[in-house]
Amino acid sequence: MNIEKSNIANLPTKHGKFKIKAYKQDNQEHLLIMSENFESLKAPYVRIHSECLTGDTFGSLKCDCQNQLNLALEFIAKEGGLVIYHRQEGRNIGLLNKVNAYCLQEQGRNTIEANVELGFGEDDREYSVVEEIFKDLGLENIKLITNNPAKISFVEKLGLNIVERIPAITATNKHNKDYLSTKKEKMGHLL
Ligand SMILES: [Zn+2]
Repeated sequence: MNIEKSNIANLPTKHGKFKIKAYKQDNQEHLLIMSENFESLKAPYVRIHSECLTGDTFGSLKCDCQNQLNLALEFIAKEGGLVIYHRQEGRNIGLLNKVNAYCLQEQGRNTIEANVELGFGEDDREYSVVEEIFKDLGLENIKLITNNPAKISFVEKLGLNIVERIPAITATNKHNKDYLSTKKEKMGHLL
C-alpha cells in the first residue's frame, strides 16, 4: 500500500492545542489530530471521524457529524488522544452523490435507501488508511469514541484492545431525528 506521510506540525484550535499529521493514499488526503500529551498515554482516546463537509464545515442539521467532531476534539483536548479525520465523504460516495441522495431523501427515502438507489452499498467506507495510521502510531490499547458497531469490529479485527468505549451522543433536532433513527434501527448504531 502506497501511503505518503507528512511531518508533524502544531495546530492551536479553539478546542485546545493539537499536533497534526497528514496521510495521502490514492490521491485522497486524511488528517491525524493528536493531543500534545498523546505519546505519553498508555490508552489514548481515539475517534475515527468520517468526513462530512456539509455537517463538519457548514453546520448542517441533517446529521450529527459536527456535534460528534466537536465532542471528540473537546474530549481529546482535555483527556488526551487523537482524532483520525477519515475523508470518505457521505459514507464514501462523494459529495455529488451525497447531494443527490439528499434529494432522494426529500422524496421520502431514508439514508440507506437513497444510497442503494444511486447504486451504492449502505456503507461503502473502507478503513485501510486508518489501519496504516494505527500501525504508524504503534497503538495497542485505545479508548474508542464511537456509536458505530462497524468501527468497533474493525478496530478489534486489527488486534487492538478497546479498553473502553465512549458514546458520541449529541442532541437530536427535527432535521436529524429520522436520519439518527435509521442509523440506530438499520445500521445498529448504539444510540
Ligand atoms: Zn454528517
